Amino acid sequence: MQSRELPVEGWRKVVHFTDDAAGLSAIIAVHDATLGPGCGGCRIFPYPNFEAGLEDVKRLSRGMTYKNALGGIPFGGGKAVVFADPAKDKTPELLRAFGRAVDSLNGLYYTAEDSGVTEDDMAIIRSATTYAAGMESKGVGGNPSPFTAYGVWRGIQAAARFKFGAENLQGARTAILGVGAVGMELARLIHEQGGELIVADVNEAATAEARERFGAAIVAPEDAVAADVDIFSPCALDGSINAQTVDRLKAKIVAGAANNQLATPDMDAALHARGVLYAPDYVINAAGVISIGLEIIGQWSKEELSARIDQIGARLTEIFERGAEADRPTGAIADLMAQEVIAKGRKAA
Ligand code: NAD
Repeated sequence: MQSRELPVEGWRKVVHFTDDAAGLSAIIAVHDATLGPGCGGCRIFPYPNFEAGLEDVKRLSRGMTYKNALGGIPFGGGKAVVFADPAKDKTPELLRAFGRAVDSLNGLYYTAEDSGVTEDDMAIIRSATTYAAGMESKGVGGNPSPFTAYGVWRGIQAAARFKFGAENLQGARTAILGVGAVGMELARLIHEQGGELIVADVNEAATAEARERFGAAIVAPEDAVAADVDIFSPCALDGSINAQTVDRLKAKIVAGAANNQLATPDMDAALHARGVLYAPDYVINAAGVISIGLEIIGQWSKEELSARIDQIGARLTEIFERGAEADRPTGAIADLMAQEVIAKGRKAA
């Protein structure tokens, strides 16, 4: 195994690891470690070149700094990328070599699942390092989707309370784009509270299931953003709020599970200018990282996790209130609050 530290300004540590025998080329980036070790998933992806992987790991590790800070867990931001095609190149040797790379940082970085990495892969990675989450076999953690859905549901309730003064979601209309693992469970929670649903998905079986179980109306994916609803909930892919869609939006709340819902940073201000309340994605969808954080510090229980997820609603309410007071977009307020949490951690250290 060879390692080479890359000097990247503003990052605590960025290291390129190679192990030719195992076919490993990986970058681990720890953006900020003020609140604790960098924590974030490992992505296995066939990046076209080194620069593309480096840019991705920088972007993702910085995002984890903010997400972990506002998730209320004692971790900084970290992420890893492995230059490989998960469908072709993933071998036990490669995964073990990646585990050794993580281990060589002596706890500065904790790894977890991300795209291209399965629970079985995590078990192999864990055979080479203790600095890895995903210990479902020990009865903790596990599939985060139901937790994420629960957190998004709490977030939507907080947004509806703030925007409409609504006690609950009864009679509120929500359009969910993407009824997969998270979106379908979210639909169930909204339906149980008497909310009305419109769903869209490229998978027709999924929309049919939502219609059958929750009486949801179905629209085409490209029309979900323009549905005549109170709440638009992106739960499919990145970037559903963009320069083309933002003017078609009828909902007064955007709150969903998808990562990077805003295609470009200026969409934060664009939503604010249109009077749309945006629940910042990395705050509302943080249940998965909260679960991982509790697992690593040995405090995972269903009760503790539920209590922590309930705080997502309170945290969002604070963001909404501060945004309204300062007349500033909520995404910018969330970033500011994360920076405040980190600055406080720095002072305490
Ligand atoms: P999933 O793959 O189970 O569901 C995604 C759904 O979106 C699928 O039903 C898919 O058919 C649909 N979809 C894909 N492309 C679409 C398109 N162009 N138009 C309409 N529908 C489309 O994924 P998930 O676990 O439910 O996660 C949903 C989103 O939330 C993802 O962006 C994910 O990164 C994010 N997220 C998930 C979690 C989690 O715990 N699962 C945590 C944080 C963030």
